[in-house]
Amino acid sequence: MIRSVEDLDLRDRTVFLRVDFNVPIEQGRITETHRIESALPTIRLILDRAKKLVVASHLGRPDGKVVPKYSLRPVRDHLERFLKQPVLLAPDCIGPEVERMVQDPNQRVVLLENLRFHKEEEKNDTAFSKALASLADVYVDDAFGAAHRAHASIVGMAAFFKQKGAGLLLHKELDYLSRLLSIPEKPFVTILGGAKVSDKIGVIRNLLPKANTLLIGGGMAYTFLKAKGIDIGKSLVEADKVSLAKELLAQAAEQGVPILLPVDHLTGDSERKNPTVCIGNISADRMGLDIGPQTVAQFSHELKQARMVLWNGPVGLFEVEPYSKGSRALAQTLAQGYPDLVSVIAGGDTVAAVTAAGVAAKITHLSTGGGATLEFLEGKELPGIKALEETPLVSR
Ligand code: AMP
Repeated sequence: MIRSVEDLDLRDRTVFLRVDFNVPIEQGRITETHRIESALPTIRLILDRAKKLVVASHLGRPDGKVVPKYSLRPVRDHLERFLKQPVLLAPDCIGPEVERMVQDPNQRVVLLENLRFHKEEEKNDTAFSKALASLADVYVDDAFGAAHRAHASIVGMAAFFKQKGAGLLLHKELDYLSRLLSIPEKPFVTILGGAKVSDKIGVIRNLLPKANTLLIGGGMAYTFLKAKGIDIGKSLVEADKVSLAKELLAQAAEQGVPILLPVDHLTGDSERKNPTVCIGNISADRMGLDIGPQTVAQFSHELKQARMVLWNGPVGLFEVEPYSKGSRALAQTLAQGYPDLVSVIAGGDTVAAVTAAGVAAKITHLSTGGGATLEFLEGKELPGIKALEETPLVSR
């Protein structure tokens, strides 16, 4: 059983909140604040009920060293603006100076410096976990995007707390994603796209018995089309996965789950210029960069029948115009089904494509996790979720 932060007794307590503030930063400026904003409801709830809040996150890949460009300072500035109250940035995440700052009665919110400045974080080191745990009385995890990592601030330190639980964001993610896997409302349609088949094999295998229809677009579709003997020109392909694609198509046919592949494409030349629609085979000098209009119509027809949709991976090179057309059209079809249709969008690129289409508000749930969401949908147990279960305490 996992408790929600709402059910924990936070009165007069110092709460350690693990969040995923791994935001994109360019030249010291945060370019996208979705992850910070997603954690605000949990932060506000804790601030309403607890004595003190200690917030911790990783940022980028500093590989166990102090790398100034991965400092959480810009995150602190945003957080202060969102919360309209001072947030103290500690110079580190453990140690006597941090402990003093946390104990200072004048500080209500302390943001720890990047956890990954210590190599012990990714090693799930026990002494490091214990040092982090010593900062607080209650542990709350809201970092769904990092739940597939067995790191100290996600797994190791949770064992030191009697009072621990999931933040509101983590809870919401688990609610929606579990619903897809346990009792999906039928018809349940899955759209898979993106560049690589290899990342999605586990998801396809796990969803085949649950989905009514699988729509495959994006770069990964070309490995499947090649498996069916269709010419794919210079399109993306994983040559070593063609036989596996054949196997998955056969498995789906056996289970009676239709897999729809693109029947036409928006293709480009080797410079991705001169966009032209191609029906069926793609000539040797061109590459498929988006689904074509007939495929958009077919996929949209399926989506209009659906009661629940999961979408992971854009169906085209959506960052480059005009190859965003297909993803935009599918996003708009999903938005038309709102609020009756339950639509779940997973993965940063797909969330970006839906946001660019201007319909994010008409999607039931935008998942903040990339790797964590895929592993959950593969049916794997996430270490960060398991760590929140009520287990025997490790003494401090
Ligand atoms: P993934 O990380 O595997 O979900 O891949 C996402 C990336 O795949 C995005 O950057 C898309 O632009 C890219 N993508 C989708 N469709 C295609 C395509 N047909 N050709 C090349 N890249 C694509």
